[in-house]
Amino acid sequence: MRNESDTDNQKATDSASPPPLRSRKPGRNGSQVAQVSGKALGRMVEAFMKLPGIGRKSAERLAFAVLGMPKDEANGIAQAIIDLKDTSRYCTVCNNITEDEICSICGDPKRDVQRICVVEEPSNILVLEKSGTYRGRYHALLGAISPLDGIGPENLKIDGLLERLRTGEVKEVILATNPTVKGETTALYLSKLIKPLGISVSRIAYGLPVGSDIEYADESTVQRALEGRREM
Ligand code: ZN
Repeated sequence: MRNESDTDNQKATDSASPPPLRSRKPGRNGSQVAQVSGKALGRMVEAFMKLPGIGRKSAERLAFAVLGMPKDEANGIAQAIIDLKDTSRYCTVCNNITEDEICSICGDPKRDVQRICVVEEPSNILVLEKSGTYRGRYHALLGAISPLDGIGPENLKIDGLLERLRTGEVKEVILATNPTVKGETTALYLSKLIKPLGISVSRIAYGLPVGSDIEYADESTVQRALEGRREM
């Protein structure tokens, strides 16, 4: 990339197609990118840094990768973000992400209605589904109990879960909250709440590393964890 002196009011997305830029690693001076290479690039770096697990270095690498892309490919990413925010919503039954009122899992008559697997986030459902072992339904709490962060049971989607359990259809609840202090606290709380309803409560096994997030586990680990669940 050439060093231009007048990049200040020039956007990286200028329509007058400049020669295609090849992405490259920010290198040692990468941390200065936001200051030296134009406002748009700096804003892109800042935007990527809002994503979980992305620090400045990774954000710079991603920003340069976008810069090196053909324009329609980069536009596709921007449009995908817009579409995602415009069309996605929570399933009114289980809080999974869906574009309709009810998600594809809740709407699937072949799924076992007697089992509900409780997770913290909708993204966890995706991981459990990839394991291919579970054919029941889900319930995402949209968080976990965390007194230090001021998050109590009342801040989670627990009422909806209890409502589903009161229909009498459900025979087993699998608690697949994360193996962290928050996740364990939540599982224990739910177990005490659900057991008196005469429903079997099991906890996902420690096939998952302690202190980690289900989201980052590989499929076989998740599969083992589900198979090794224990009663609480
Ligand atoms: Zn659903």
